[in-house]
Amino acid sequence: MTKQKAAVLEVIRSARCHYTAEEIHREAKKILPGISLATVYNNIHALEREMLIRKITGEDLSDRYDSSPIPHGHLYCKGCGAIADFQPMGIDQTLRDAAGGEYDSYELKVRYLCKRCREAHLGT
Ligand SMILES: [Zn+2]
Ligand SMILES: [Zn+2]
Repeated sequence: MTKQKAAVLEVIRSARCHYTAEEIHREAKKILPGISLATVYNNIHALEREMLIRKITGEDLSDRYDSSPIPHGHLYCKGCGAIADFQPMGIDQTLRDAAGGEYDSYELKVRYLCKRCREAHLGT
């Protein structure tokens, strides 16, 4: 793995949220100051092909990247656009039953108002 690719993977893995390519670029520059956005894109696509990361779609339809190779659901805040992970209980068995066996992946999007937005909304 090149040091550019390792840096991109490190940024995505250390992100608590799901970064866009621009955000990954911003953080990768802290590790490798000379890295270009085009290089970041190329490495994101390579990591995606190797299934080390997964692309998800943000609420604003931007592409965002997830470091977890394990399928999981996402909570989309309609207030601030933050995306949080959650692991739905029992869904694996439900989907295996529905698919009659193995399945490749699933997408589960839940729209809500996150705790921070809910508190802000209440106007404390
Ligand atoms: Zn929010
Ligand atoms: Zn996720």
